Amino acid sequence: MPNIPNALYTLQTYELAVDHARTRIAEIEAALTGDEDLKSAQSAHENSETAVQECQTTIKNLEEDLKRLQLKIAEVNELLYGGSIRNPKELQERQDEITSLQNRQSDVEAHIQELTADLEKLRAEHRGHQETLTVAISQRDKNHAELIIERNQLDTQIKTNLRKRKAALEEVPETIYKQYQVLRKKKHGQAVALMQNSQCSACGIEQTWSHAQHVHANEGLIYCEGCGRILVSR
Ligand SMILES: [Zn+2]
Repeated sequence: MPNIPNALYTLQTYELAVDHARTRIAEIEAALTGDEDLKSAQSAHENSETAVQECQTTIKNLEEDLKRLQLKIAEVNELLYGGSIRNPKELQERQDEITSLQNRQSDVEAHIQELTADLEKLRAEHRGHQETLTVAISQRDKNHAELIIERNQLDTQIKTNLRKRKAALEEVPETIYKQYQVLRKKKHGQAVALMQNSQCSACGIEQTWSHAQHVHANEGLIYCEGCGRILVSR
């Protein structure tokens, strides 16, 4: 009499191995597409680049303001010393205007100086983020190389186990395989359990003496009295 429980147990070994390999492949695929370290390095690098650009733009605008102020000062100076204005009140007004323009000029110059110092710091930070990003990219490539090797090995394992599964399946009648499949779904992938010293290795329940004898005697499909899995004695 063919030992059906034993054939099912062998079949299950290959099917579980394939399940595990597929789960791991899904994890690898997720890791290959979502590298958190790299994402955070990229975003820090991008933000520091934006900060540098914004600071440069502000300085450029202030420099243009400064140029306009200098032109205006030159223009008023020209009026003041060109001899065209003789009225003392008006001369005083022009003088006051120059003083006010020069005050604004010093404010703008001070602001530019301050921002130029900030820009140096921002550039240094940006270089730091650039280095971090380079390291993250090379680490990602290294990890990917290892993960891709692992995935290829898993693919090979799956092919081998599917081949062995096919051979094992030939030992199992179709109706029994269907029952096994239904049970496997209900029992988290494990439909068949080894019985060791009358104990089910899946749930740990001790089988009654006569029940265990049926399992030992290989009398068809005998189910665990605790979890309902098919028991096999090897
Ligand atoms: Zn059990």
